[in-house]
Amino acid sequence: MPRIVAYTYNAGIHCPACAAAAHEKGRFRDAPGLPPGTDEHGLPYAAADSEGNLVHPVFSTDEPPVEGWYCETCDAVIAKPDPEHAMHMAMDAPDPIAAMFRLIDTGVVDERDVGNFVAMYADGVWTNPNDGLCEGLAYIAFHGGRALVASWDNQGFWNVEEMTTEEAEAEIATREAESEGEEEDRC
Ligand SMILES: [Zn+2]
Repeated sequence: MPRIVAYTYNAGIHCPACAAAAHEKGRFRDAPGLPPGTDEHGLPYAAADSEGNLVHPVFSTDEPPVEGWYCETCDAVIAKPDPEHAMHMAMDAPDPIAAMFRLIDTGVVDERDVGNFVAMYADGVWTNPNDGLCEGLAYIAFHGGRALVASWDNQGFWNVEEMTTEEAEAEIATREAESEGEEEDRC
């Protein structure tokens, strides 16, 4: 059975908790001619917003857009955006590195997603010649000498961090030197 995941009112989308809070504070009125009763979040079926428009439920079966849905009251993720799309949008943010970490923190993407993204658009990349692509480090350089760095090991562990571009370049040089003469170790 479809669940109510959000509501639209005041020309925006809002999470159930914020809609319930708005109802508690008396922000909605009753639209005339609608049956009494409340839904699963305690909102009256007849709730209307300040402009008199009905508060519409959004169901778990409704298809979100690629940019996802965020509550316009509290900014909670209602529907995750498409990860690929979200990462491209983050690159256009005023602070792309912070935006990318925010995507990880809010569970929109994981470090592996970001790692693959960084490897694909890398300004510098090192992969261990002894084990193919199983171990590596890549970075994207941003203005101000900042770099978004993703590294992965042959256990499938990914790490995303911020370094200076200089540090990222040095890290690659160190790993290049270390991997020379290493045993072949295919993962
Ligand atoms: Zn909310």
